Amino acid sequence: MSVILKENIPTANEKPIPPPMCQPPKRTPKFYADDKANYTILCPQMASIHFALAKTVFSQNGYHLEVLPEVNRDAIEEGLRYVNNDACYPAIVVVGQLIQALKSGKYDLNRTALLISQTCGGCRSTNYATFLKIAVLKAGFGNISVAPFNVNLSSEPNAEGISMTPAMSQQLVLAFFIGDLLMRTSNHCRPYEKNAGATEQLVAAWIERAKPVIAEGKMRDVSKLAPGIIADFEALELVGENSRPKVGIVGEILLKYHEGANNRLIEVIEREGGEAVVPDILDFALYCLTSDWHRAAYSNVPMKNYLKSTFLVWLVERHRKKIQKRLEKSERFSAMCGVRHLIKKAETLVSTCNQTGEGWLLAADMVEMMESGVRNIICVQPFGCLPNHIVGKGLVKELRNRYSDANISALDFDPGATEVNQLNRIKLMMAIAVRNQRKKNNADLKNEEK
Ligand code: SF4
Repeated sequence: MSVILKENIPTANEKPIPPPMCQPPKRTPKFYADDKANYTILCPQMASIHFALAKTVFSQNGYHLEVLPEVNRDAIEEGLRYVNNDACYPAIVVVGQLIQALKSGKYDLNRTALLISQTCGGCRSTNYATFLKIAVLKAGFGNISVAPFNVNLSSEPNAEGISMTPAMSQQLVLAFFIGDLLMRTSNHCRPYEKNAGATEQLVAAWIERAKPVIAEGKMRDVSKLAPGIIADFEALELVGENSRPKVGIVGEILLKYHEGANNRLIEVIEREGGEAVVPDILDFALYCLTSDWHRAAYSNVPMKNYLKSTFLVWLVERHRKKIQKRLEKSERFSAMCGVRHLIKKAETLVSTCNQTGEGWLLAADMVEMMESGVRNIICVQPFGCLPNHIVGKGLVKELRNRYSDANISALDFDPGATEVNQLNRIKLMMAIAVRNQRKKNNADLKNEEK
């Protein structure tokens, strides 16, 4: 209990002591698209194929973007130094990677800005830009700008951050069409390739071939690239194709795609005898774009935003159908299914008003995988990520009720999680997956002999 001493109370003749002057909070300088020619923009890594292609789009539009390489343990330690450890693990990974780059001495600190994504929803990822700004100030880089990047239909035209022109948006979507296709085809071929390394060589070759088309292209130019990619991957020599269990990876976006953040999960699955199946990244953008559709039933959504998102989803899906149709003809690869189909799948389990984190998309991915025969799923989520625990781990019981052979394992990631624990859980899950697949292979063999 505080005690007010009599001698501290000003008497009638004394002037009251003025309150201490409040210092204005320190802020990092703002980044506007007009500054692009003067800055190197550092971008944290998330999905290596997609980001290699996206970099071309930024270069074409006058940005000097540098996608940072792998995340290592030092980057995570760096993140922990500047972000409170009760923040989300992806924030720690991303901030750590960027601060590590600033400290590396490789960049002119008067001409460097940092790119960070923002989802503009109810989740903490909306605040990643603020986390980063605070970290940058704490680390003593007060003159470094932070450029937020988001899929926000209501943002002002001259808002802070990267400004997406219609042409740039089209190129970026085209880059993600091709990134998703290369990820899909390479994940299927790699575990069975006859000549070690052949799949990765083909991916690297197609990234280089796709870059000039994407730099000059529009979404419709997907038909210049996709048929060739599918044909080349169909021609790859494989051994024992489809004999391995398919293992779906779902969950938080950074952990799902970033091999550094998820401790090389795809490599582990392949080493343990499986084939990884990873959903398209573009589905996440479509999931963000459709959020107004579901909200409109319960709240006041501006008609302008509603129509804009409906048009954009239609446009993207219209061009993605070209890949989908070609994949449907393929005997080797499975096709994507479209966002409306995913919404229907999610609605069988949760309300589509689940829009924080991966929200209803996570539920939709799991149902879609189960129904397309991928009965093994690893759900990756940051420790303490409430939204994804609800629509990820929270649905496992119901999925097991629906699909008796569902083999689902939820993996938590945080800076202190030991790789050994994660590995043990994956190995256990993979042992069941391999045993089930062996039974299925034997049954198929017997049926063929009959
Ligand atoms: S989805 Fe989870 S990890 Fe990502 S920002 Fe939200 S709470 Fe954090």
